[in-house]
Amino acid sequence: MIVVKFGGSSLGTAARIEHCVQLVQRELERRPVVVVSACGSTTSMLQEAAQRAVAGTVEVTDIRGFHDELVGELQVAPGCITALLDELETLLQGVSLTRELTPRTMDLVLSFGERLSTELVAGAFSRTGTRARAVPAYEIGLNTDDRHGMATPLSGIGPRIAVALGRIAELPVVTGFLGRGEGGAITTLGTSGSDFTASILGAALGADEVQIWTDVDGVMTCDPSIDPSAKGLAALSFDEASELAYYGARVLHPNTLIPAIHAGIEVRVLNTLREEDRGTRIIAGAAPGTRMAKAVVYKENVCHINVASPRLLSAARLLSEGLEIVARHGVTIHMATTSESTISMVTDGDTEIDENSHAIEELRQLGEVVVERGKAIICVVGEELRGQVGVLSRIFGEVAAQGIKATMVSQAGSEINIAFLVDNEEIRPAVLALHRLLLNSERE
Ligand code: ADP
Ligand code: ASP
Ligand code: MG
Repeated sequence: MIVVKFGGSSLGTAARIEHCVQLVQRELERRPVVVVSACGSTTSMLQEAAQRAVAGTVEVTDIRGFHDELVGELQVAPGCITALLDELETLLQGVSLTRELTPRTMDLVLSFGERLSTELVAGAFSRTGTRARAVPAYEIGLNTDDRHGMATPLSGIGPRIAVALGRIAELPVVTGFLGRGEGGAITTLGTSGSDFTASILGAALGADEVQIWTDVDGVMTCDPSIDPSAKGLAALSFDEASELAYYGARVLHPNTLIPAIHAGIEVRVLNTLREEDRGTRIIAGAAPGTRMAKAVVYKENVCHINVASPRLLSAARLLSEGLEIVARHGVTIHMATTSESTISMVTDGDTEIDENSHAIEELRQLGEVVVERGKAIICVVGEELRGQVGVLSRIFGEVAAQGIKATMVSQAGSEINIAFLVDNEEIRPAVLALHRLLLNSERE
């Protein structure tokens, strides 16, 4: 059994959808379970439609037009799609009347993207001879907590999912990205969450492999939209792939590998546009490469919080109390460093942290607080970094040569990730310079 996931980029036109259908039809003997994202950029269109609705305007012609066109070109029955689009419009009318858009309602609005795409893709399979069924993940036991917008699956959900999928006689085409919260409402698993869905299903089913099909040659040495000379990576260890996903390689949702690692399932990232490319295998114990490291990635729009204590607290207390305050307010910390009298933390930029938030008010009781937005984390990742003596001076020499000042430099305990902070505007020059260094480097 295999799980095969297609991202929105692979489902943006009828021709691409048909191509994905054919890819799966060649593997039917491996009993595939298909997971799909919303087609093309439907998720962003839904986000914008929700924002327009809360401002008083209900307008879904772009979403309707795009899906109607796909229905026509794929020659599938329009019934289900039309009903879903009508339901979406009614929901948005409610939003425009109440002028209220809670995270829970936003998740419900976004769910239409994947609900529409499963209907379209299942229709395309059935029309070409493979009986398929659109399956909402929240109806087969993909239960989560109630953190709308970034929900976490509950533990122990695997067996129920396996039983529910086992009862489906047709080829299941499952919604990525969606779950059901403890209160019963639809939740979403965060941006790019369909990757996560694929590995949750893979682990539940004890699949032989989870295939993530996208629009580039697997996980690459850097974001190809920054440097088109980026190269696909043949293999990555679970740890490397986790660091890369967490620190910004958009190609994988940060949590994708957790269920796969627990279940020991291989994940492959493949290119729908170049099937002959073997993609990236993510496996336990991938062999080290010959370059200095595997890849350069970045996470933009993070927030830097600095707390300087007037030496009334010990460094240890400052760190523990600072972290506790931020964590208690539900803010994710990506990096933290400390000195005797200061603590620096990097959090998501789109969280509620601002100069007046409760978390900042509490931090002010520890010392003077400075909040800087518009920052970015840049990371060089690879098992090869372990034990290389001169690597820090090579990396920071290159960054300094671009006139960029790197702060909060850290090499976590695992030694496979060297990270630092720059301004958002410095991402491109820093990534380009480090990527050039990487491609021309040899491991010491
Ligand atoms: P999908 O629609 O298939 O889920 P995404 O847009 O979520 O695709 O992810 C693929 C995109 O991730 C690529 O088009 C690429 O621009 C971007 N990306 C960023 N960093 C990397 C990287 N290191 N390797 C591969 N792709 C990356
Ligand atoms: N449609 C969702 C998103 O755009 C989930 C995904 O594509 O994986 O983030
Ligand atoms: Mg994605």
